[in-house]
Amino acid sequence: MADKYTVLKKYFGYDSFREGQELLIDSILRGQDVLGIMPTGAGKSVCYQVPALMLPGITVVVSPLISLMKDQVQALNQAGVHAAYINSSLSEGQISKALYLASQGRYKIIYVAPERLESGEFMRFALGAHLSMLTVDEAHCISQWGQDFRPSYLKIVQFVRQLPRRPVISAFTATATEAVRDDIVCVLGLSEPQVLTTGFDRKNLYFGVEYPGKKEDYVRDYVKKHSEESGVIYCATRKAVEGVYEMLRKAGVPVARYHAGLDIETRVRSQEDFTYDRSPVMVATNAFGMGIDKSNIRYVLHYNMPQSMENYYQEAGRAGRDGGPAQCILLYSAQDVIVNRYLLESKGQNGEMGEEELRIMRERDEDRLRAMSGYCITKNCLREYILRYFGEYGSGPCGSCSNCHREYEERDVTKEAAKIIGCVQEMRQRYGINVVAGTLAGETRAKLQEYRVSEYRSYGSLKGWLETEIKEIISQMVLDGLLAQTVDKYALLRTTEFSQDVLLGNRKVILKTLKGQGGQGSGSGVKERKSDILNSRGLELFDLLRKLRTEAARSRGIPPYLIFSDKTLQEMCIRVPLSREEMLQIPGIGEYKYGQYGERFLEMVSEFTGGTREKFYFGQGPEEARNREKSGGAKAEFSLTRDQAETFPYQEKCLLPELAAAMSGFRNSARMKKITGAEIFRFLTDQKYVEEKYQEGRWKKLVLEAGTEAGMYCAPRTSRNGVEYEDIYYDEKAQRMIVAHYTEE
Ligand code: ADP
Ligand code: ZN
Repeated sequence: MADKYTVLKKYFGYDSFREGQELLIDSILRGQDVLGIMPTGAGKSVCYQVPALMLPGITVVVSPLISLMKDQVQALNQAGVHAAYINSSLSEGQISKALYLASQGRYKIIYVAPERLESGEFMRFALGAHLSMLTVDEAHCISQWGQDFRPSYLKIVQFVRQLPRRPVISAFTATATEAVRDDIVCVLGLSEPQVLTTGFDRKNLYFGVEYPGKKEDYVRDYVKKHSEESGVIYCATRKAVEGVYEMLRKAGVPVARYHAGLDIETRVRSQEDFTYDRSPVMVATNAFGMGIDKSNIRYVLHYNMPQSMENYYQEAGRAGRDGGPAQCILLYSAQDVIVNRYLLESKGQNGEMGEEELRIMRERDEDRLRAMSGYCITKNCLREYILRYFGEYGSGPCGSCSNCHREYEERDVTKEAAKIIGCVQEMRQRYGINVVAGTLAGETRAKLQEYRVSEYRSYGSLKGWLETEIKEIISQMVLDGLLAQTVDKYALLRTTEFSQDVLLGNRKVILKTLKGQGGQGSGSGVKERKSDILNSRGLELFDLLRKLRTEAARSRGIPPYLIFSDKTLQEMCIRVPLSREEMLQIPGIGEYKYGQYGERFLEMVSEFTGGTREKFYFGQGPEEARNREKSGGAKAEFSLTRDQAETFPYQEKCLLPELAAAMSGFRNSARMKKITGAEIFRFLTDQKYVEEKYQEGRWKKLVLEAGTEAGMYCAPRTSRNGVEYEDIYYDEKAQRMIVAHYTEE
């Protein structure tokens, strides 16, 4: 039997497994059930497809969507694997034929919809066949806590019970919450499963929140600037989809649209136009999604704020599945919160739910919406915000999101914050942000007169501040836990146990505002990416290869990315393969694919280069290209040489950012990433030297036992703004340990 590395190389064209894949594959091959929780794009399919090819019998994959199955099967066939799907898009005759071929051992992998497991014909097939594995894709559909519960998923269990021999079960999902995870394990009846959650960070994605005055203008500019790329623009409503679609169409952009209000033919056509890159830009509601496996989506813009972080991360995560750089940008306006609240309120009004159930659901929805709004207004690192939401702590600022790129001015608003708290108390916590801010600003609109707010002492006590500014302070205080909002549609402001600290002067409140005027919405964080890696000749070659890919795809009637991903084409431009062997070295090109397409691409490369290897990229060398493959980013990972480590200027004690800066200053290439304090901190957290904990309303850094031993200790520190807090210091021994970790063997 071929080993897993051979299978990976031969069929998928990859040299190494990604984080987590190997563990799951090994477990499956040992006969242990597995549950893989991995973000979209992490590479779940490989986790079951590789063992499926190694196990003696057939693997049945349960998948919720027809389009998803079709895409997966096409991709497998392209890689030279015999696979088929069985679902309602086939005729009775086709189904019988497929099952017949399957029983003859023609297919290693069969995709089915959960409903199919009930059919007598399928059961007969299953009883007669040798099923080695049952794979449940999108396994969260089995949980009633999840967002897309499908009752038909419950049928899987009955199906397994009827089998004479229980196959190993592998389940996969991108949903991380504990309730869902427990449900999957219980309901599916996984026996002592190997559960693996990979990091939720998607390093190749850039995250941004923008606040454009006119969203349409922003979208038009953005799409025009990225005219060579494929992207999705998500809107909250059908009406917005139609509006943006028309606008782009008039601007001459090849664009498709998708929402539930279109008839099925139009939807299918739109999706195909998009998949086949005939219309590389898609404007859609969230109805467009789960079935999208297109790997070369280079950007996902959100025209409106989604209803939850789960939704956002799933939708945004459709960008960059091929591991190449991609951007996820959310266009925020305060109006979005109102629209979403309205949408949530109209949910569940069909009387199917009891009052109590409805209340719980509303509370949960409100909570989710609040976390989502927090993402849009936070001034801190967006990636860190996302990761914390999904339960990963201590990542620190990422250095590649719009907030990490912006420069902020910090303003001490402690006095104002105290007045706000005073006002909330004086009003006996009966009003929301609009009334409170209006009162403090001394506004006179009818609503405020009706509540007779001018009788409060706080009335007008922040005169001179704009109401929007006061609201901004309040939002910041809510994020910091100094005020809270009730979990209902009124969102009344309440004080918290920490409000007192502000009143007593024990805690400062700092408001971050953008440096300079009108900085917001200027598209700041959006930089040109493509040219980051390939130089102009490289881009020329890339374009030719892409055209070749499109032609090949068209003549076979398959989507271009199924032939080679953007990433693979880019890698061809970097490595300039001139022989079969060199072509097979490129990630994403297995033997079968080489047989199908390799020569044509080889010819194109030799024709373009005249057979001499040129350098088509910025940077240092192929070594770096390999590092880039690993990191998914544009630059090589940080490392020091032994010599550098020996001459490093160790200090008696220092803080992490200082150490990171000193280490970065020592690296020998501008094309190598800098190391950040946050990254080092993540390493130290992983190794259990330190820990970050949410205590008393804020994140605190703690030194664990191993950290103390290694020379780390906590000591008080005062920030530039006079806030006192504890930070971790590192003595020489600790510095040496850290530097050694980043030093090449
Ligand atoms: P998911 O189902 O988790 O969203 P996919 O299975 O679609 O992700 O994989 C995302 C992309 O990553 C695909 O293009 C796949 O070919 C690629 N990929 C998977 N495993 C590897 C690997 N070990 N090395 C390189 N690329 C990989
Ligand atoms: Zn960041």
